[in-house]
Amino acid sequence: MASNTPTINTNANPPAGYTGDGFFATKLSDLIGMARSCSLWPLPFATSCCGIEFMATMGPNYDLARFGAERMSFSPRQADILLVCGTIGKKLGPILKEIYLQMAEPKWVVAVGACASSGGIFDTYSVLQGIDKIIPVDVYVPGCPPRPEQILEGFMQVQAMAQSESLRRRDAPEYRALLESYNAQ
Ligand code: SF4
Repeated sequence: MASNTPTINTNANPPAGYTGDGFFATKLSDLIGMARSCSLWPLPFATSCCGIEFMATMGPNYDLARFGAERMSFSPRQADILLVCGTIGKKLGPILKEIYLQMAEPKWVVAVGACASSGGIFDTYSVLQGIDKIIPVDVYVPGCPPRPEQILEGFMQVQAMAQSESLRRRDAPEYRALLESYNAQ
């Protein structure tokens, strides 16, 4: 007989702590990290072929929803993770940056594929040679195009960062300096 038990994402396992009779104690930061990592709302910024691979990642075979990310956000203000999929022309750069600036902290950026990471095969005057020229990037997904499994791997890398990130990291001088270097304060 088929079980009605829902599949549980292993990332939602409770953080390390102490279990007793009727209680569980852990660090607040670990709990927040777990909640964040399992509810990352993606904003796909798709301009070309890599966007199609991202659509496949959202489909039933790969099912990004398993990771708590089924809610696409096309509003930067309600997004946690910016997935840049495709070639970014220099004219598009300021728009991408504005979207990044409109996202609230904490936020993460993934460069999906060779074009977003480095310009890819388009070593031309009109193409941005990597989005990290204008915004900070947390994870680079290689490939032209990357397969959905690779996009999932990049996503899980961000989950691991969100899970373990200190609650104070975004206020740290190093992070402020990083944003200042991108004129993104
Ligand atoms: S990396 Fe390859 S597949 Fe992806 S947008 Fe560029 S040319 Fe297309």
